[in-house]
Amino acid sequence: MRMSRLVAPTLREEPAEAEVPSHKLMLRAGMIRKVAAGIYNLLPLGHLVISKVAQIVREEMVRSGAQEVFMPALQPKELWEESDRWGVYGKELFRIKDRHDREFCLGPTHEEIITPLVSDAINSYKQLPVTLFQIQTKFRDEIRPRFGIMRGREFMMKDAYSFHPSNKSLDKEYKNMFETYCRIFDRMGLKYKAIKADPGAIGGGFSEEFMVLADTGEEELSPGVRGIEVGHIFKLGTKYSEKMKATFLDEKNQEKPFIMGCYGIGIGRTAAAAIEQGFDKDGIVWPIAIAPYKVAIVPVNSLEKEQIKLAEELYAGLQAVEPLLDDRDMRVGAKLKDIDLIGIPLKIIIGPRGLKEGNVEIKVRASGEVIMVPIAEAKKKVEELLK
Ligand code: ATP
Ligand code: MG
Repeated sequence: MRMSRLVAPTLREEPAEAEVPSHKLMLRAGMIRKVAAGIYNLLPLGHLVISKVAQIVREEMVRSGAQEVFMPALQPKELWEESDRWGVYGKELFRIKDRHDREFCLGPTHEEIITPLVSDAINSYKQLPVTLFQIQTKFRDEIRPRFGIMRGREFMMKDAYSFHPSNKSLDKEYKNMFETYCRIFDRMGLKYKAIKADPGAIGGGFSEEFMVLADTGEEELSPGVRGIEVGHIFKLGTKYSEKMKATFLDEKNQEKPFIMGCYGIGIGRTAAAAIEQGFDKDGIVWPIAIAPYKVAIVPVNSLEKEQIKLAEELYAGLQAVEPLLDDRDMRVGAKLKDIDLIGIPLKIIIGPRGLKEGNVEIKVRASGEVIMVPIAEAKKKVEELLK
């Protein structure tokens, strides 16, 4: 991407509307803009980061054996009456009517949709267990939407649901999901902790929450340690299958309700939590795995032909590692400020002094380390640092 074309309206000033670092920095880096309380636009950089989080989640879910589906946000009231949640869910449920006065809600979660779907698709214990997941938009009329996309009213979630013939089978998949979540958050380079939790409105039996450790977390885990809930895994049991009459035939040809589990990850919240764990006075410090671009190429003087030529060559050669070419006609200090604010892990700085000696400077965002390398070795060094 060429920085001159990138739609990233960076801000020098602290936005007054934001309380926590991730919200301030997402606004300042031009990643998000508010539309209404708890409702956000994702600009190109915001969308890139969220897409990378979603892709890691997707890859690890598929690796775990789960299959991806896509369910509607619009859900008919009748299904929520079957599960007995139309009444209980309360004001957090966005309720709407269609032109015929039929009632719907905008899904805050999808047990009411997936349970009849699987019940229809699967008849026999021989087809079990199965785990289905989606990455989809959820709606919750939060009493206090805040902290930007951390607690929105419209937000992206990965939600998965597993269906089993026995508790033993559920326990096995629950453990598989626990391990999958660890791989997901490890790949993103996050520090986290799993703790036992209150199942809340989704209900059922045992559940654990994955907490990203951060000073600004809403939850106090143990004295002085705070966490941001990024994921939640539940053993639901037969709570939904019994109410919704979702059954299969067991070995003895008897009808049994499915035993279920459900597993969520907040995609946007995970990106925000990564910032809470990775920022400094200059801006965001992305983990490499979810950085919007991995390397920025910055000619010191954008009118110097030799610098531009080398910058373009490096840009072409580094396409595989998602480069950002700062081709803006600006003072170098201002260019570097923007790139640090956005949090790009590596910068290649092309200046007159280095060029004379045939070198460029590589700067590491996280450590501040500066490495001089011969031009011919720049590409290899960048690839090595990104490993
Ligand atoms: P919280 O306690 O923070 O309100 P929850 O327990 O209601 O969350 P779950 O129903 O467990 O949330 O949803 C699964 C995941 O979706 C959560 O672990 C979180 O990462 C994410 N999530 C939940 N609510 C929001 C929201 N309003 N905005 C962004 N992400 C959310
Ligand atoms: Mg939860």
